[in-house]
Amino acid sequence: PVVLGIESTCDETAAAIVRGRTLLSNVVASSMNEHARYGGVIPEIASRAHAEAFVPVVSKALADADMTLSDVDAIAVSSGPGLAGCLAVGVSGAKALAWAANKPLYGINHVIGHIAVTQLQFGPFPPDTLALIVSGGHTSLLHVEDVARHVDVVGTTLDDAAGECFDKVARLLGFPYPGGPHIDRHAQQGDPHAIRVPQGLTQGKAAAKHPYDFSFSGVKTAVARWIEEQQAAGREIPVNDVCASLADSVATVLARKAMRGCEQYDSSTLIVGGGFSANSQLRAKLLEFGADHGVEVRIPEIKLCTDNGAMVAMLGVNLVEAGVKPSSPDFAIDSAMPMNRIVAE
Ligand code: ATP
Ligand code: MG
Ligand code: FE
Repeated sequence: PVVLGIESTCDETAAAIVRGRTLLSNVVASSMNEHARYGGVIPEIASRAHAEAFVPVVSKALADADMTLSDVDAIAVSSGPGLAGCLAVGVSGAKALAWAANKPLYGINHVIGHIAVTQLQFGPFPPDTLALIVSGGHTSLLHVEDVARHVDVVGTTLDDAAGECFDKVARLLGFPYPGGPHIDRHAQQGDPHAIRVPQGLTQGKAAAKHPYDFSFSGVKTAVARWIEEQQAAGREIPVNDVCASLADSVATVLARKAMRGCEQYDSSTLIVGGGFSANSQLRAKLLEFGADHGVEVRIPEIKLCTDNGAMVAMLGVNLVEAGVKPSSPDFAIDSAMPMNRIVAE
């Protein structure tokens, strides 16, 4: 099947066309630069940018694939989780297109899209595989029985997401939003063992109680306190070493818990997705641990990790192939869509 996928959960307005497992077009417009000076995404600015970008982005995705709306079998749009005003723009636009062209419409879960997208690069999932989702808002380990019908949350963060933790430390170091990529770049020049950074929920009773859960707020606090101490003592902050030590701690915890999950669920494949999986320290650590544990780690190329329309279209293809019923014409956005809900009803 051919599916048009539309994404507007946060600051990217994106559209893409996927046929089977082939990406025919992929257009992304971002309002990221408009938010940088505020230190975070401003929902009102993002919603307005979506309203302006929607028609040009969808038109370009169709044109790049050499198609018109009548050539697609279905439309998929992210209906949550995300910023309500942003979701409303994408979902109302998609409803209008579906109604006008008389096409089935699926309101899909953006986070599950981050998992589905790996199929464009690595082909169909093996049954019963494990997925690690690391994005701006989510850090979770999921058991994917069937991406179109059933996923279970195995573990999740008890406080901050990994991306959030990076963004917060980045702010302390004076990097502009989003700070994750800056930490990545500086970490490449630093010593990962220069500073002792705790590895949350990996030892003791709490770890035994939460074998697959994550906690990153302690990491953030430890780094913040260390920076304050250095400043109080009049010492210069070794920025590269701070970044390298933070990145090493976070990547190690994620890779270790993901491998433990694979062992527990007898999965020889680990699917990785979400904006934070663009992080080079995490990518290296996952591949290293995967090789040691005999687990094939499927991390897509960077442009498929960050928010895009291809992830939405790919999950749409899975739903059409599985014969899942489209969403009702009046389905609602869900800014807190739970991860075990794949499609809006
Ligand atoms: P969600 O998917 O949970 O709704 P989101 O869509 O806002 O959240 P993504 O776009 O998937 O999040 O990811 C954005 C996050 O990825 C930001 O926190 C950003 O700092 C982080 N990020 C992007 N590239 C890198 C990198 N190279 N290193 C570290 N973090 C990165
Ligand atoms: Mg974004
Ligand atoms: Fe995302």
